[in-house]
Amino acid sequence: MDVYIQQCQHCRSRNLRNILVRDDAQRVYVQCRQCDQLVARYIIAPGGYFHEGKDYESFLRTRMLDGGFLSGRDLKAAFQDVSDSCAKGFDEAVRRGQKKYGDPLP
Ligand SMILES: [Zn+2]
Repeated sequence: MDVYIQQCQHCRSRNLRNILVRDDAQRVYVQCRQCDQLVARYIIAPGGYFHEGKDYESFLRTRMLDGGFLSGRDLKAAFQDVSDSCAKGFDEAVRRGQKKYGDPLP
């Protein structure tokens, strides 16, 4: 696992904003708050978006917009899996980032 903390390629700032756009796909545009330039764009895979702190209903709406339909029980299990793996993945990313960049992270 490699960890990278994004930085503006124009002014080196790490003060960035994510702009989420949903049309034919879900896209995230990363904009520098310092110089307003585009830093990066991500396209989120169907079912790949998880918003921590949002409830199961919100998860369901996202999954339905993505067009993937599972049974109610499978959706509950999927919600728990995604929630657990996000928490675990985030903790690991922070831990590895701190090893690479120091604590606190830049
Ligand atoms: Zn910048």
